[in-house]
Amino acid sequence: MNAFVQLQNNIEQNSDNLEIKASAIPSSKKIPGSIIIVIGESANRDMMSAFNSSYSKNTTPWEKASRGKNGFIFFDNSFANFPNTVMAVTQALTSSNQYNGIPLKDSIDLLDVAHKAGYHTYWLSLQNKSTVSDAGITVLANRADTIKWIHGHDEAVLSELKNIPPTENNFIIIHLNGSHFRYDRRVPQEFIEKNNLAVESKTDWYNTSLQYTDCVLKEIYHYGKESLHMQAMVYFSDHGEDMEYTHTSSPFLFDMVHIPFWIYLSPEYQAAYHDTYQSSRKNEKEIFTNDLMFESISGIIHAESTSYQPEYDITSSKYNLSRNHALTLHGKKYIKDDTE
Ligand SMILES: [Zn+2]
Repeated sequence: MNAFVQLQNNIEQNSDNLEIKASAIPSSKKIPGSIIIVIGESANRDMMSAFNSSYSKNTTPWEKASRGKNGFIFFDNSFANFPNTVMAVTQALTSSNQYNGIPLKDSIDLLDVAHKAGYHTYWLSLQNKSTVSDAGITVLANRADTIKWIHGHDEAVLSELKNIPPTENNFIIIHLNGSHFRYDRRVPQEFIEKNNLAVESKTDWYNTSLQYTDCVLKEIYHYGKESLHMQAMVYFSDHGEDMEYTHTSSPFLFDMVHIPFWIYLSPEYQAAYHDTYQSSRKNEKEIFTNDLMFESISGIIHAESTSYQPEYDITSSKYNLSRNHALTLHGKKYIKDDTE
């Protein structure tokens, strides 16, 4: 908890020291439009048909169909840096990661990077504001130019998106409730009835929440494309989920860190930054841990800050994280020990 208080105390200063390298042209200048980042909640890719084609249910029909389409890149070997929300998301959205030795209190955050790179930044959250356990996330959310704490099921984010000016450079982070326990509270009754979904067991309910998230992602994608001039969309989960123990550091099970992660890059984006598109494609089978989201999203918007390191950027030809070096549980577990 102390680390989040220190981050709160330092973040303004850290941001003042932040500089974007002048060598690259940020995407806000080269391809004006919107960038949408969706942070999922407790989604386990092993139970998502888009990532695991042998899974018994088609829990993610839209993502599964999108996999082969132009501009979508799915990273099948992605892991959370920690099996709880606040620990995972704070490393995902700051320059602190498991490999570079930068403590959270000295890190810079992605919203400040995007702001300096020419975007109006948004934090749209379906999760509760400022419960003690989420204090670290509120510290980051407060860096956004516009912050909305939204009540209701995840689809409520759509009406907030409609308030965003369509012709500006927007950098929008959406923090979903996704599949957070209890799963039955995440899904509207109409969705279950409309899709005739089974709701007998806990696993059924979990599957239902994944399918609902898939539908919300589809809606966000289409609205972004049609109305916000969306140039890039990123979806990843904070951590995974185990059907018996949910997500916790003890006992730790690898399915708690098996996360979905994909990127969509528009045709205009692909033409403007052909190398970024090609490198991302080439890296789609690489091991990735979501503490490297800071570098990877900085890479997508071509806003290389002073602390950006290309070897942590999955969209870079210099990306370099071997299976033997990849870590989770904030450095306490090797990904290579994952036999699940
Ligand atoms: Zn979480």
